[in-house]
Amino acid sequence: MVLPVVAVIGRPNVGKSTLVNRLAGVMDAIVHDQPGVTRDRTYRPAFWQDRDYSIVDTGGLVFDDDTEFLPLIREQAMAALSEASAAILVVDGQMGPTAADYAIADWLRQHPVPVVLAVNKCESPQQGLIQAAEFWELGLGEPFPVSAIHGAGTGELLDQLITHLPTVGMLPDTSEINVAIVGRPNVGKSSLLNALTGEKRAIVSSVSGTTRDAIDMIVERPGNPETETESQLYRLIDTAGIRRKKNVEYGPEFFGINRAFKAIRRADVVLFVVDALDGVTEQDQKLAGRIAEDGRAAVILVNKWDAIEKDTYTIYEYEKLLKNRLYFVEWAPMIFVSALTGKRVDKILDLVDTVAAEHQRRVSTSVINEVLAEAINWHSPPTNRQGRQGKIYYGTQVKSKPPTIALFVNDPKRFNENYRRYIERQFRQQLGFTGTPLRLLWRGKK
Ligand code: GDP
Ligand code: GDP
Repeated sequence: MVLPVVAVIGRPNVGKSTLVNRLAGVMDAIVHDQPGVTRDRTYRPAFWQDRDYSIVDTGGLVFDDDTEFLPLIREQAMAALSEASAAILVVDGQMGPTAADYAIADWLRQHPVPVVLAVNKCESPQQGLIQAAEFWELGLGEPFPVSAIHGAGTGELLDQLITHLPTVGMLPDTSEINVAIVGRPNVGKSSLLNALTGEKRAIVSSVSGTTRDAIDMIVERPGNPETETESQLYRLIDTAGIRRKKNVEYGPEFFGINRAFKAIRRADVVLFVVDALDGVTEQDQKLAGRIAEDGRAAVILVNKWDAIEKDTYTIYEYEKLLKNRLYFVEWAPMIFVSALTGKRVDKILDLVDTVAAEHQRRVSTSVINEVLAEAINWHSPPTNRQGRQGKIYYGTQVKSKPPTIALFVNDPKRFNENYRRYIERQFRQQLGFTGTPLRLLWRGKK
């Protein structure tokens, strides 16, 4: 289920994490006393009346300070805000409005996200109203006095908050396909991300990844009643990582391969971007190797196709050339796109659907054994020097994601690499498995 996100924003030490703990109903989480500590962004489920939402503490927002964390903190808050349905700005009622509160309020007014203003540390009801009134000056509407520690005033705050949240019934409840966009720097990953998330497709939500500030974006493709297709959600993994380099200058040798590896590990489908101008490099081969090793489905996006002199190569010649160098993922469909002109970008999610379906496909044992019988008839297993022949008794699919077929044989050693590849080719020819690795386990009698 996808929940609307509420981002909690404010300068350090105003009580953001105390408030998050209060609203998420768990009081045992650690509360830092230290100002300016960056925390992991964790999304916690919360509800008020019949509304469910997910609440995230953005870490302290600092504008007038040059701590080393500053860009990171701001980036986190920005990312949280860009995917939030609403924000709570927390201020300190005992301290009164500070310059930093004004700076944050100004910044928030430039964003389209609705904001409710929580004036925290107002333990006394009468005094609280007076303290809160001072914050009208921030220009964010009614200030709500609350005490995060005691829970006072949070009801009124939440009544206001939920008027800004979409009802969960409006959010579709389809299972997501986890998609990682990976490739070397400058191949066009962030341009493609923009093309994929732009225009009609709404960004529904974002949920934190496994690594700190790995931010996922969820994109919905609406269903089509004419073709009876249902809507589908795609979780684009670690979109912050894709955009990272826009904010931080890395040297030309920086590749971020570990970040790519982590994204691949979390993906069902990898959109593997290569640059049509550069062709396949050694780094591309490393990524291809990892995709296959981790058993992820993949689509190869050959980007910048607009920049290729079309009479130099045809698509077919070019595909052959690239596939040759990307033999680890030779099973992956290849599509020639341009993030710049948008050419064929609308086909990408179709391919994601296809390969995701193949990745989780299950084939019955009877069909597998038909294919095996046919394959053995055409080309019988090799015989070793002692005249002993390999025998395949039967096969069965033991796992999906990726499809894994166990073959029970008399002696795995009698099946050389050539024959194993032949059997795999037969499975692919007869059963498809486009875009997914296919694993064959050769099991002996004992
Ligand atoms: P954050 O940095 O904004 O996340 O602030 P914390 O939640 O870590 O709280 C900062 C300090 O304010 C801690 O010492 C909390 O105990 C204190 N605090 C938080 N909420 C309240 C409150 O409602 N009343 C009072 N008096 N203190 C609070
Ligand atoms: P990233 O590092 O992989 O995220 O790559 P970017 O999306 O930042 O793109 C790197 C450069 O390639 C930028 O100058 C883009 O404008 C350019 N670029 C991206 N996609 C295309 C494309 O389809 N065609 C052309 N000609 N240039 C592109």
